[in-house]
Amino acid sequence: LSAIDELVGELARLPGIGRKTALRLAFHLLKQPEDDARRLARSIVDVREKVRPCGRCGNLSEQDPCGICNSNRRDVSLVCVVEEASDIMAIERTGEYRGLYHVLGGRLSPLDGIGPAELNLKPLLERIGQGAVGEVVLATNPSVEGEATALYVGRILSPLGVKVTRIARGLPVGGDLEYADGVTIAEALNGRREL
Ligand SMILES: [Zn+2]
Repeated sequence: LSAIDELVGELARLPGIGRKTALRLAFHLLKQPEDDARRLARSIVDVREKVRPCGRCGNLSEQDPCGICNSNRRDVSLVCVVEEASDIMAIERTGEYRGLYHVLGGRLSPLDGIGPAELNLKPLLERIGQGAVGEVVLATNPSVEGEATALYVGRILSPLGVKVTRIARGLPVGGDLEYADGVTIAEALNGRREL
């Protein structure tokens, strides 16, 4: 395999990048100064070496516990449950949420072979067991799988004596939290209702 073929092959494995785009990116990189390509390569290696899931909440961070778990300015009685760490970034961008997080690491999706056992729930249950959590906001995506996941997690949590709420509708159905704008996310959070 030539060096170009190899790069095109690697780029084409990224989500949302077909072979055509991969080719365009590869030739773009060849036209740019060599330093640009070196910087890109270095930042890819860096992110893989430095960023790890937070042992407490699953947020991706260079520190463990992450900056959010470690902050003394967050409301520890409030925990927002999200599918992926990237959802935390979307919610943090709103600047309105002051609680902590928990990352499930996915959503129930029988077709993709993702069942309850694949969801990262144990650390959340442990945290609730420690007694400081008063409310859990389920902020899984407004898709069929996201709703099913919220219902499932709500059922697991309801006997534990915590208030369980679900973010309000209003986010585009089937859309990803990740791509929603800050105002919409803030409204969905503020309009949350008890499950
Ligand atoms: Zn954390």
